[in-house]
Amino acid sequence: MLMNDLFGKDASSLKEKKLFLFDMDGTIYEDQRVFAGALELLSTIRRLGGKYVFITNNSSTSVRDYLQRLKAMGIEAQPDNFFTSAQATALYLKEKHPGQLAYCLGTRSLLQEFRDSGIAVTGQVDDRAEVIVVGFDTELTYAKIRQTCEMLSKDLPYLATNPDLACPAEFGFVPDCGAICEMLALATGKRPLFLGKPNAAMVDYVVRNSVFSKEQTVVIGDRLYTDIAVGVNAGVSTVCVLTGEAQLTDIEASSSKPEFVLPSVQEILTILAE
Ligand SMILES: [Mg+2]
Repeated sequence: MLMNDLFGKDASSLKEKKLFLFDMDGTIYEDQRVFAGALELLSTIRRLGGKYVFITNNSSTSVRDYLQRLKAMGIEAQPDNFFTSAQATALYLKEKHPGQLAYCLGTRSLLQEFRDSGIAVTGQVDDRAEVIVVGFDTELTYAKIRQTCEMLSKDLPYLATNPDLACPAEFGFVPDCGAICEMLALATGKRPLFLGKPNAAMVDYVVRNSVFSKEQTVVIGDRLYTDIAVGVNAGVSTVCVLTGEAQLTDIEASSSKPEFVLPSVQEILTILAE
């Protein structure tokens, strides 16, 4: 039975894991297609008394929208099976900027999510705003870019939901939050504090709110500088799958080394079901 990863390392310690933190796009599915073994892996984790949480950097989609999308793909999930960079940002705002008005460049869904969690937020230039937040704005317009540059001229604390440069699309990639922030940096010289993966808070929060320890936790993803780096930064085990962005040559060249490299989530199922 296969228990070794693609570099010949014994991966049987994955059998001891209980808290599985999955990236979604490129790890569990691509577009609407769920990868082979993914559904069975999730039900196996549940059957073995473990828990899975989808940790995603995509701040354009709310948890409510994700629940519908996953349900349509046959993936069982409740709100507590999610932790998004938008939620991490909301927690940070409440902790570090309580009661302050936040100027936000983001989707209507992101602004609504912040409001739902009790944060005062505006999408307009406002002298009362005390903190600036940029998300993955799939409704971006030049007017919004201009407004954000005006707000950035005020020297306020500047946050962003996630550093991803590109988001997968049917034809390749589109600019994600990190690329939007690069564009703003080229014009204003300002760079944000990024709160999604690879910020260790993404893992720390989920572990703290579970009954499991860091030793029982593993992050599974396809992107080295976010998914694998967050696991490394948080001090938990990591599995890189090759169904998305990272290829073997990228892993060899990267400073963020996963503990294990497997072709897909199917092989994790094989190890757990062993
Ligand atoms: Mg991914």
